[in-house]
Amino acid sequence: ELEIAIKVVIVGNGAVGKSSMIQRYCKGTFTKDYKKTIGVDFLERQIVLDGEEVRLMLWDTAGQEEFDAITKSYYRGAQACVLAFSTTDRDSFEAAHSWKMKVEDECGEIPTVLVQNKIDLVDQSVVDPEEADLLARALGCRLLRTSVKEDINVNAVFHHLAASCLAE
Ligand code: GDP
Ligand code: MG
Repeated sequence: ELEIAIKVVIVGNGAVGKSSMIQRYCKGTFTKDYKKTIGVDFLERQIVLDGEEVRLMLWDTAGQEEFDAITKSYYRGAQACVLAFSTTDRDSFEAAHSWKMKVEDECGEIPTVLVQNKIDLVDQSVVDPEEADLLARALGCRLLRTSVKEDINVNAVFHHLAASCLAE
């Protein structure tokens, strides 16, 4: 039987919660100081969508994003993208557009979700809701607000991407 596998890359500035999101989605856990296991390129989770088995491979960076040193092999063959910023980090919001361009340069146009993470810290927000909506519209992608910590909307991110890939 044919199984569908989708490589998902997760990009955005350091400390927005990318590794935590992968960990949350694939292992169901959250820690305050998650460190990527050395030697593991990705974690995976299998879901069933419209009766089809879909294997999502979530690729993590080992912190290279902070040095702008993500290698081409990270992007190679990616079919979907999570573009993440943090509710409490203005720079990460402003960097989202250039992250989208980097992914497009390497992968072309692939299904992408703009993710505003750490929505549990909304009382410390440095991004207006309207600005986030406008950015999503400008980038042509869906905006989802998540809290990896509180497990809000994380499944929806990957469900949406898988559905977009299947529809292509
Ligand atoms: P990465 O550098 O983008 O991979 O970010 P990490 O996954 O390492 O997360 C950076 C920090 O943010 C860690 O201390 C996480 O525990 C924390 N964090 C991640 N997601 C959330 C969230 O939804 N809410 C809050 N309050 N903290 C989060
Ligand atoms: Mg990380």
